[in-house]
Amino acid sequence: MEKFRGKGVFGGIAIGRISLYKRKEQKIKRYHIEDVQAETERFHAARDEAVRQLKNLFEKAVSEVGEANAMIFDIHQMMLTDLDYCESIENIIHTQQVNAEYAVGTTGDNFSQMFASMEDAYMKERAADVRDVSERLIGILSGSEDSALSSGEPVIIMADDLVPSETVQLDKNMVLGFVTVHGSANSHTAILARTMNIPAIINTDIALKPEYNGMTAILDGFEGTLVLEPDEETLRKAQEKQKNEIEKKQLLEQLKGQENITQDGRKIEVYANIGNLSDVGSVLKNDAGGIGLFRSEFLYLENSDYPTEEQQFSVYKTVAENMAGKKVIIRTLDIGADKQADYFQLPPEENPAMGFRAIRICLERQEIFKTQLRALFRASAFSRIAVMFPMITSVSEIKEIKKIVEQVKRELKAENLPFDEKLEMGIMIETPAAALVSDQLAKEVDFFSVGTNDLTQYTLAVDRQNPQLDRFYDAHHPAVLHMLKLVADNAHKNGIWAGICGELAADLELTEAFLAMGFDELSVSPPFVLRLRKKIRETNLDACRKTILEKIEKGERL
Ligand code: PEP
Ligand code: MG
Repeated sequence: MEKFRGKGVFGGIAIGRISLYKRKEQKIKRYHIEDVQAETERFHAARDEAVRQLKNLFEKAVSEVGEANAMIFDIHQMMLTDLDYCESIENIIHTQQVNAEYAVGTTGDNFSQMFASMEDAYMKERAADVRDVSERLIGILSGSEDSALSSGEPVIIMADDLVPSETVQLDKNMVLGFVTVHGSANSHTAILARTMNIPAIINTDIALKPEYNGMTAILDGFEGTLVLEPDEETLRKAQEKQKNEIEKKQLLEQLKGQENITQDGRKIEVYANIGNLSDVGSVLKNDAGGIGLFRSEFLYLENSDYPTEEQQFSVYKTVAENMAGKKVIIRTLDIGADKQADYFQLPPEENPAMGFRAIRICLERQEIFKTQLRALFRASAFSRIAVMFPMITSVSEIKEIKKIVEQVKRELKAENLPFDEKLEMGIMIETPAAALVSDQLAKEVDFFSVGTNDLTQYTLAVDRQNPQLDRFYDAHHPAVLHMLKLVADNAHKNGIWAGICGELAADLELTEAFLAMGFDELSVSPPFVLRLRKKIRETNLDACRKTILEKIEKGERL
């Protein structure tokens, strides 16, 4: 038995086998082959396996995102069996007497370049698909496909680090928990763990060893510990703790259907944050009043190329329809910084958190923005959708956004495509600049939603991605609380509503303060909805409001 320490980012106990997460090896080695027939057969076997995987993915995607969006996996299967593609690979193996990985890599490069140079937009887009299927084949051939999750049973993932695009592609049903050596508590990977309702520890003092693969482990997200090969007594205690947790959750179930109301009658909306369509089930299960933040960029991170208008339209419409009339606030693309998709080809930056990201990309690359806006507005014809824009710093940005929105609306009208004329448009307040000019900003928009993750980062000049700075990342800092109060006041002064959708919204130590400041909505990861409801229902605001507001005014800690 061995015990390791890390930092818990989501409470909970996971008991299961470890699966080491191997990042895909990008470099392909070329080597000489004697038996070209055997090598060709190896290619055929890998192709059959890839087709089998894609069939499974297709079925899974149909149930999660609908047939239209799942079609891509069907197209990938067709590409794998395409005569020209296969002949090219076989030819290279035979004529050059080389390994199959190299033949697939070369063919993949040639074919994707050929597609990329075509005039037709649809064919152009296929370049990324050829690369994708070729990578899948190479992964199978070289045994470097994502080893995690291939065991067929749910596992605890152990990795050096995980970036959001990797996390989002994990099969949630097969992940019991995460253990990472690096990572920070405020990173999107930590946020995803919370959304997915799985225990996770980061910054763990462990050196990854291949022999850990398959070992039984206990991951305790409350304590921030990992025990490998536990003895019987430790395992029994962990199972007991897990059982207690389940019982506690069942108690919270009783709060379903109840109002979010304080003892002295103050009501507040409790919404949930999601990253994609498959999170909606958890939102409904936890009885959230709506979706306060749909991080639409995860749709981009899951794709190997820009998601099309149709693809986005279908996802937004399905999410909103599944929420059956409850409000769904979709944030426009917030890519950049830690959320990188290769096909955006963003240049490397010295200081990415302060760089070319979010609304800045949308205003510079307006075609991407307009495609998303068209999809959002079209989906608004079917259910209750609101839109909000990330990383705003000034009124001029909103004016620019509004102009683009008007253009999109005009186009949709001209094409006779319906949309909600009264669609609410809000902004995220996640920069100190936005908080400080919130009085002016409030005159331009329908609501504010405070992104405390970034607001804390920018106010305190503390990189939220840097685990070394976790102890300086103090979201309770009086400066942050002061801004929150300012934002709520300026919203109300101008007759609009204000919410919080950053992770701080789920911090039960501050629930009273948020109520005292007058926030109208708190949006949290789905598993926190009922815990927050419990806290609100236990609060007597009259008893604490005055003291809290005085402390904020004086810049004291709460
Ligand atoms: C935030 O910054 O608080 C926020 C909600 O956005 P994200 O965490 O996705 O940057
Ligand atoms: Mg943010």
